[in-house]
This record gives sequence, C-alpha cells and structure tokens, in this order.
Amino acid sequence: MIAAESPIETLKFFVNGQWVESPGSRLHPITNPATGRPIARVPYATKDDVDRAVRAAHEAFLKWRKVPVVDRVQVLYRYKDLLEKHAEELARTLTTENGKTLEDARAEIRRAIQMVEVSCGMPSLMMGQSLENVASGIDCQTIRQSLGVCAGITPFNFPAMVPSWMYPFAIACGNSFVLKPSEKVPLTPTRMAELLDQAGLPAGVFNLVHGDKESVDALLGHALVRAVSFVGSTPIAKYIYENAAKNGKRVQALGGAKNHLVVMPDAELDKSVDAIMASAFGAAGERCLAGSVLVAVGEVAQPLVDLLLEKARGLRVGDGSEADTQMGPLVTAAHRQRVEGYIEKGVAEGARTVCDGRELSGTFSRERRADGDGYFLGPTIFDHVSPLMTIAREEIFGPVLSVIRVKDLDGAIELVNSSAFGNTTSIFTSSGKTAREYTSRIEVGMVGVNVGVAAPMAFFPFSGWKQSFFGDLHAHGRDAIAFYTEQKVIMSRWF
Ligand code: NAD
Repeated sequence: MIAAESPIETLKFFVNGQWVESPGSRLHPITNPATGRPIARVPYATKDDVDRAVRAAHEAFLKWRKVPVVDRVQVLYRYKDLLEKHAEELARTLTTENGKTLEDARAEIRRAIQMVEVSCGMPSLMMGQSLENVASGIDCQTIRQSLGVCAGITPFNFPAMVPSWMYPFAIACGNSFVLKPSEKVPLTPTRMAELLDQAGLPAGVFNLVHGDKESVDALLGHALVRAVSFVGSTPIAKYIYENAAKNGKRVQALGGAKNHLVVMPDAELDKSVDAIMASAFGAAGERCLAGSVLVAVGEVAQPLVDLLLEKARGLRVGDGSEADTQMGPLVTAAHRQRVEGYIEKGVAEGARTVCDGRELSGTFSRERRADGDGYFLGPTIFDHVSPLMTIAREEIFGPVLSVIRVKDLDGAIELVNSSAFGNTTSIFTSSGKTAREYTSRIEVGMVGVNVGVAAPMAFFPFSGWKQSFFGDLHAHGRDAIAFYTEQKVIMSRWF
C-alpha cells in the first residue's frame, strides 16, 4: 500500500463507458522495473466494483448482441486504425511498466493488432453450416449466437497481446466483456481501453477493472458471467478452471510452462544458437514460450555450450527503453528474488554454472545494478543439469537456461515427454526425417522446427497441452469463435 498523497497518477476503472474511481479500493504502486521508481498507482477492485462492471456489461450485451456483425466489426476496424496510430506510444508505455525492450514491446503491439485484424473477419468466421433435405422435405442449419458477459484475467508478461487474445474476438461475436488485467502492468490495458472507447464502442460492451484475488473471485462467482478466459501460472489456472466450472461457466485457462529446445548434431549451429538466445533470454525469459531447458543431443553438446556462452557474455542488459539494450529487467524486485532463488537451488543441487546472471556480464548492466535501482539479472546458463533437479522441472520464468545432455533423439523425446508441462518445444536439425519424427512423437501443443519461439499467429490456436492448459477450446484462431459463441441447430420443414 502507498500513501494517498503521492503525486503520481491514480488509475481508474472503465465501467459503462465512464472512467470511475472506487473510494473503497486499496491502492498499490506500479514501478518502472528499469529504475525501481513509481510511475502510477492502481486501485484494487472490491466485489461491489466487479458487480457494477458485470451488471453494466450485461445491460450492454442485451443491445450489442442485436447489432449486425457487419456493424460490430466497424468498431474494430476503427480500433485497429487507432492502435496503428498509437503503436509507438503503446510500446513505450509497455516497456515502462513491464521492462521488456522496445523492440519486444513493438512486436507485442503488432501481435495485438493482428488479433483485432482477425476479429474483423467475424462475418465470415461466425458462419454456420447448412444442408438441405437431411430427411425428406427437412433442411438443417447451424448458427452461432453470442453468449453474454465474458471475463478475461491476464498475466503481467504480455499486457497488450494476451488481453487481445480475448476481447476483440468476444466483442465481435456479440458478447460484452470485463477485463481484469495483471495488477502489475495496468497502464497498457488502460490506454488500449481509452482507444477502444474512442473507436466508438457502445458504453458497457467493454469494461476494465484492476485488482487481485478479490476481483478475480468476484468474477468467478458472478451469476451474470457466462465465460472466463484466463492466462497465467499453472496453480492459478487450475484454480480458475475448477472454480469457474463449478459455477457453471465456460472456461479456458492457459497455464505456465517448461519449454525444451532440442539441438541435434546436424543442426546449423550458429543460426540455432541465435534462435536459442532469443528464446531463452528474450523478454528476460518472461515468456510462456521461452526456452528453459536446452537438450543437447550427442556430440553437439560442448560446441553448443561454448558458442552459447560466448553469445550470452555479449548480451547487453539494461533499460529496455534504450536503443542498444538486448535484455531488460525482470518485472518486479520480488520476481527477481524468486528467479535468483532458483539459481541458488541449481547451484545447491549440483548443476555447473557456466554463466551466472547474478554477476551481470556486460558493463551496461553492472552500472545499473551498482545504482541499486532496477530489477536486473543477467543471463544464467547451467550445464550438466540432471532431469530430476528443480531447475529442470519447475517454471523459473527468468533468464535461466539449463543444459541437459542426452545420447540420442529417443533420449530427447523421452525427456521432453516426461515434463508435466506441454506448452511449446523446438527442435534444431537439418534433417527433415528427424524433424518429422520429433513433431509426431512429442507430447507438446506448439512445436517449432528451427524456430526458437513457435508462437502461433492470430488465425491459429494457441495450443498448450498438459499442465499448460485447462479446458477444451484454446485462445485465438477458430477456437476463439467456438469459445465465445453458443451453437444452435435448426431443423425446418414447411407444410
Ligand atoms: P499469475 O498466475 O500470478 O497471475 C495471472 C492473473 O491471475 C493476474 O491477473 C493475477 O491478478 C491473477 N491472480 C494471481 N493470483 C491469484 C489468486 N490467488 N487467485 C485468483 N487470481 C489470481 O501469473 P503472472 O505472474 O502474472 O504471469 C506469469 C505466468 O503466466 C507464467 O506462469 C507464464 O507461463 C504464464 N503465461 C502463460 C501463457 C500461456 O499462453 N500459457 C501466456 C503468458 C503467460
């Protein structure tokens, strides 16, 4: 909690087309992870705040669902234009609150815009099927109808993109929406809500509340919420899945990850290592698709580790808003401490540290750390990690890469398939046969071949498996249309 007299901006909720304050809510500071300085304060919604947002959304839904889909998407076309116009400003806001580099932030805004673009295709995407004369004189058709109030609960690592996996699709399908973004990064979603309002969305169709468990529980328990989309860590995803389902809601809950990058002896080493660096250390490892375990097959291990080390030592860590920074800070001091805890565990469990991020290679970052501000941590590489070690099994969500050496492809597949998670994996090889065998046998939902971060585009589903996903219908792609609509079958006979 922070003092009420602080001069920094206090954020508001967006409810029924108005920016509203909540007198009863607790205020929390938001800091710039690169400087440690406060940049805003965010109110945490109470149960009553959430109730007001959901009721407004329900009222708006009753009218919005009747607006023809061709007219609904006009708002999204205008929203896309506004996002394009403000893309740089949004990227800078995102870097300021999350810490990722401007380049990463710009790429994230691009991904968010692509979600809106795909949602603009809803007149075609929402179409049903029909068949005449299914029985003598009887025709059959399916139609897709909107559900009602949908809720979104999102994580800190993609404040623009992950909410965009949800509300553009939901709104285009004729639903209304209540977004509860991560309380750590509320500024980007706030600015995007302003732009959506400016695009002419009717009051109450989109609502924004901030908060923590209290606001999430209020959404899960609200009788007027029909569907819940969640993205975040596995324990919370499980909690959301169980509780939303118990309350009779449709739910998709995307969880955490432990992603393996497999390197075969025939891989193109230099290009593969560049892709591995970007996967493991891009966005400071705070991506659900970040490579976390490097599986070195056969004799590639030593040259792979040597080259990786050389590149990791040259990585420029610093303020993400500065042009030459390649890796920004972690999101909060508490999260850096958590990641450092994993590094300590790796050392204690006997992994060999070939690069220790706590020492921060690169003068740029050392200066920063000496200032005592910013939540910086350099890249860490552990070699000779065993599959049973904590760092090999648990999600770290920071710039830490663990190298496990295996004998052959079978050993790699067995190792990856033994993981509790199944979000993404990549194989680096120049053999089509090896790639084909890997993609076929691996029990993971998103697979890359010579691609470090196999993130599906907006028109494909984001398909995590195992403990990385709870539900049936995935985020974006055609799954999103199925998730945000109810299907109806109509049989007609005319006497
Ligand atoms: P988190 O689980 O801590 O928080 C996510 C959301 O849940 C936030 O909005 C938060 O306010 C809410 N929340 C937190 N604790 C809660 C509780 N006890 N009860 C109810 N709600 C609660 O996740 P995070 O730290 O913000 O984000 C990082 C995690 O998200 C990582 O595990 C990462 O792998 C995962 N993630 C997954 C995907 C994916 O597509 N599978 C994408 C991005 C991030």
